[in-house]
This record gives sequence, C-alpha cells and structure tokens, in this order.
Amino acid sequence: MSLSPISRFFRSFSFRLNLWYAVLFTMSSFAIFVLLYYRLAEVLEKKEFEVLQSRTKVCAAIYQAGGTRSLRSWLERQQGQPGEKEYFVRVVNRWNVQELLVVPDDWVTFKDEPAGIEGYRQRVGVIRIPKDAQRDFALSSMTFPDGTLLQVGRSTDTRVALLNPFKRTFALAMGGVIVLAFGGGALASYRALLPVRQIVSIARSIIETGRLDARVPQRESQDELDELARLFNSVLDKNQALIRDMREALDNVAHDLRTPLTRLRGTAELALRAPDDAGAREALADCVEESDRVLSMLNTMMDIAEAEAGTMRLHRESLDLCQLVNEAAEVYQCVAEEKGIRLRRDLLPPCPVSVDANRFRQVIGNLLDNAIKYTPAAGAVSVSVREEGATVVLRVRDNGVGIAPEEQPKIWARLYRGDKSRSERGLGLGLSLVKAVVEAHGGTVAVSSQVGEGSEFSVRLPKASAVSDPRVGRAGNAPKASAESGSR
Ligand code: ADP
Repeated sequence: MSLSPISRFFRSFSFRLNLWYAVLFTMSSFAIFVLLYYRLAEVLEKKEFEVLQSRTKVCAAIYQAGGTRSLRSWLERQQGQPGEKEYFVRVVNRWNVQELLVVPDDWVTFKDEPAGIEGYRQRVGVIRIPKDAQRDFALSSMTFPDGTLLQVGRSTDTRVALLNPFKRTFALAMGGVIVLAFGGGALASYRALLPVRQIVSIARSIIETGRLDARVPQRESQDELDELARLFNSVLDKNQALIRDMREALDNVAHDLRTPLTRLRGTAELALRAPDDAGAREALADCVEESDRVLSMLNTMMDIAEAEAGTMRLHRESLDLCQLVNEAAEVYQCVAEEKGIRLRRDLLPPCPVSVDANRFRQVIGNLLDNAIKYTPAAGAVSVSVREEGATVVLRVRDNGVGIAPEEQPKIWARLYRGDKSRSERGLGLGLSLVKAVVEAHGGTVAVSSQVGEGSEFSVRLPKASAVSDPRVGRAGNAPKASAESGSR
C-alpha cells in the first residue's frame, strides 16, 4: 500500500525528531516561565506584607499614643495624600466592640462582626474580596496588652499590576517559543538527517538503475553518520567487486565449458556417423571422457563455493600430516619419474593436525601436481612438513618456470590460468580449491616465486594437540630423516 506524501511526511523519522525536539524545547521553556512567575509572585507578595506590617506598626504606635481619635485623624490626613494607597483599618476592643472602621471605597463593606474574625487576631492572612475577584487583600493584625485588636489591610495589586502583564508577555513569548521550536527542530533534523537521506537516495538509485558505481558523498565530520556513509560506500565497493568477480567467473566458466562441449558435440556426431560399431564405441568413449572433464570442473567449482561459504562438510580427524604427504608423494613419484624430475620428501613426523583427510589429499595432490607440471624435465621438487610453534607448515618447492610478481595474487582466483600455462593440461581451479579448503580448516596459504627460478607454496595449519588416528602410529614410524627419490 503506497502512502500519500503527507502521511509519509507525518510518519517520517525527521518529523518525529522535529516533534520531539519541539515538545522538549517548549516544555522546558514553559517550565522556566512558570518557575519565574511563581518566584516573582512570591517576592512581590513578601514585599507587600512587609509594607503592610510597617504600616501596622505605625498605626499601633499612634493608637497607643493618642487612642482611636488620634489614629482616625492621622488616617484621614494620610488617605488624602496623592499616591497614597487606601488602607483598611479596624480597631476592636476587648469586648469585641468596634471602635474604628475605615474601609477603602472599592472594598466590600465589612459587617461589624465578620465571622471568624478571631482567627485573624494573631496573624496576617489574605482574603479575596468578592467585589473585585482580580485582587487579593492582605490583612495584618496586632493585639495590644489590654486585649484590643488592631487590623490593617490593603488590597494587593501585584497580580493585576505586575503579574497579569507578565502572563500576557508569557503567552506571547510561548507562541514565539513554539514557532522557534518547530522551525529550529525542522532545520536541525533536516541537517542532521542529510547523510541518511543521501544513503536512501543512493540505495534507491542503485535499485532503480542497477548502476553500482553510485556512492554517498563523504563529509569530513568523522561523526556516526559519516561513519555510516563510509561503511555504506565500502559495502557497495565490496559488492561491486564481488559482482565483477562473479561476472568474470561466469564468463570464464562459459568460455571454459564451450570448448569441451563443442568437442563433445563433435564426437557425438562422429559416433552417429560412424560406419561400424567399433568406430561408434570409440567416439562414445571420447564423449564419456569429455563429459567427465566437464563434470569434474563443475564439481570442483561447487566444492570451492561450498568451502568458501563455510558449508563444506569436513570429516575432521586428528592425524599426522607427514603421513598424508608421504602417501601423496608415493602417488606422484611415478609422474615425477616419467618427467625426469627428482621428488624429495623432507618430513619430520609427527606433525598432528585436525583435517579432513580426503580434502587434504586433494590439497597436497594439487600442489605436487602443479610443481611437477610447471617444472621442466630434470628439475627438482621437494615437499616438507614441519612443526613451527603452534602451527604445522607444509611447503612444496620446485625449481620450475616460476610466477611473475603481478600474476601471484591472481593465481588463487577461480579459472585463472597463467599465460605460460595454457599449453599445460588444467582447469585453473587447483589453487582456488587449495586455498578454499585450507581456509575452511582455519589455515592460510602463501606463495613466493621468481620467474625462471621456481616457486614455493606453503600451507600453514593450526597444530592439533595429539594424533588420535590409529594409522598415525604407522606414520609416526615413518623415516625421521629426509627421504629423497626420483629419476632423471
Ligand atoms: P592450473 O594449473 O590448472 O592452470 P591452478 O589453479 O592450479 O590451475 O594454477 C593457477 C595458475 O598458477 C597456473 O595456471 C599457473 O600459471 C600458476 N602456477 C600454479 N602452480 C605453479 C607452479 N608450481 N609454478 C609455476 N606456476 C604455477
């Protein structure tokens, strides 16, 4: 189900990031404003009470000096003065008779004996005046030793005069803060997610066009998103190299299959046209041989793929590598002799390794086969096995044609055949299989070679703790000194 651009926007990570940013920013600004408001209100209220208390003290002094009359006349003089705030003043004697009551004009008139007046005898309290709900008033009470109660009050216009404008400013400022929060959030998330958008657009363009050479532009910021872009680019590089290798391998396979299949077809045609049974049989035998060749090539390629993917089933057993090499050398002895090559064994048993014996016979066989194949008649090939620290090293050395330095990294690739090797039999798969099998066993392969002087292939394997294979007992009895054989 495809989403409309608007719903896609609302579901986008950038929108959610923006929303989070805006909400957090607005809430923290709101919290700061509220804190400021209450702190301001508190300070103003305290100030109002201080003023009220000092007025109460003045009133008390005048009352004590001249009684109700003198207090009344002082109040009348005070009330008339410009800028002077109107005060509520009340004097109640000890028999609860009200001796004096001055109430500002805009106040609700007090009844003579408001209920609960006793509650205000000893403290300052605040009572909301119903006539003007916007205002509070503060009331300060003082009791004289004869039981007379003096109450002085005044309306506190803190809220109206100061806090209300503050609230209006606050509301306006919050509007600005919200706009800023969303604008800033949008800008910040747009900038922060730029590399992610670039990665998305590159990935999309690769999917749509199939072109693998597109890359995310690199910034030099070294942050996590830059790291992501770098990693994404290196994944693309690796994929591109892999696909190129696969294409090349596929081309090579097609090329290498064409010759035997053409031959196979030709031979089959010959069989069809053969005048007698004997001719047909001979042609069919050639067909079988050619099919075997193709099958062996395909099987080897599948083995390599399995070993590289880690899915090759290895029947590992602890055995002496010297024994395996000895057995393989026996087999290749005749081949070497036929070509007049001296094959020398240099084995120091036991060299315990944990390997799949059949797979390792293939490895040793391929290395020996190559050494004999690429060494001219009367040359020398030597195979050695040594324990070196925690590893066992197999070396196959020859004094044959050698490999050019630029060719050395390529020889491990599937179906690669050196230019000079075209005349020799082979599929270009031997060393790829060696490498894949050795690496599947946790080992490494290496080559060192000089053109015209020869090559040395080495296989390094982790040493096994002990040899458990009963056959190894026999291998352990193998000659300790180096053995040499061959013919010219
Ligand atoms: P193949 O021998 O069938 O061509 P390999 O995978 O065994 O395929 O070897 C790949 C290439 O490496 C060979 O074509 C050859 O050029 C080179 N090579 C391998 N072993 C040797 C060696 N001992 N001496 C010289 N060149 C070698």
